[in-house]
Amino acid sequence: MRTFADLDAELVRCRACPRLVEWREGVAGTKAAFAGQEYWARPVPGFGAEDAALAVVGLAPSAHGANRTGRMFTGDPSGDFLFRVLYEVGLASRPVSAAIGDGLTLRGTRLVSPVRCAPPENRPTPAERDTCRHWLADELDLLRPTLRSIVVLGAFGWQALLPVLSAAGWPVPKPRPAFAHGARMQVGDLAVFGCYHVSPRNVQTGRVTQPMVVSAFTAAASAAGLI
Ligand code: SF4
Repeated sequence: MRTFADLDAELVRCRACPRLVEWREGVAGTKAAFAGQEYWARPVPGFGAEDAALAVVGLAPSAHGANRTGRMFTGDPSGDFLFRVLYEVGLASRPVSAAIGDGLTLRGTRLVSPVRCAPPENRPTPAERDTCRHWLADELDLLRPTLRSIVVLGAFGWQALLPVLSAAGWPVPKPRPAFAHGARMQVGDLAVFGCYHVSPRNVQTGRVTQPMVVSAFTAAASAAGLI
């Protein structure tokens, strides 16, 4: 039977998107603050519990965040914000995710993204999103026995996720509901929540605040039976 370790071992060797392979490897060390650091520069596996009841679907690794550290949402301002929220809701053992091996654990929660390689300007193309879709599908398939709730951060993740759920047999309504912050959709045994992405732009403009995101995660954690 396929395991998360099997999946991750295959994923980190993926080179299916030439533009993203070139970018993820080419940006290594180009930011002065991280010059001299060894970058992960490969596809980024999911992070968290292998029997998660709650999944968080983001967008893609950032060039100097997860593409540098090798751990989902780790090493950039979006991740700093997200881990503060996870800690406040009681889903993370600490409010800071520093690096692989720092001892941080997530309770009943797994972080994934629909595109696993860092894209230029954080914008994957539709073709890259579709090419990467099977990795998300495979990860959700492994989580399926325990998965009860998903928080989707932003419209990109929402549009990427719903076809995966449909293809896997979850009864997603037709036409597919549009993304909105605060949206909640029940698809069979799975509750799906929309939440604005915790990007620096959204945070700096006040479009998204920590209480807003804590509220969304509290609802999702409750639906998952985690709180
Ligand atoms: S984005 Fe996904 S499909 Fe494309 S190279 Fe990376 S892991 Fe492979």
